[in-house]
Amino acid sequence: MSKSTDALSTIQERCLYCDRETSHKISIIIITESKSEENSEFSREPYRVSRCMQCGRETKERMNNA
Ligand SMILES: [Zn+2]
Repeated sequence: MSKSTDALSTIQERCLYCDRETSHKISIIIITESKSEENSEFSREPYRVSRCMQCGRETKERMNNA
């Protein structure tokens, strides 16, 4: 499950697929991860998603490693 926030901006960033700097749309999403079926503990992890506006590919990075 994921939930979008309203944080949207566009930056210049290198795209691995285009192999050059392109415009990327940046958004931060919070993904709720359930650990396992035995445990009802949930962890909510922020991810930074950058979408290349040239090729449309998305790169997702976890923002903190807990
Ligand atoms: Zn690209």
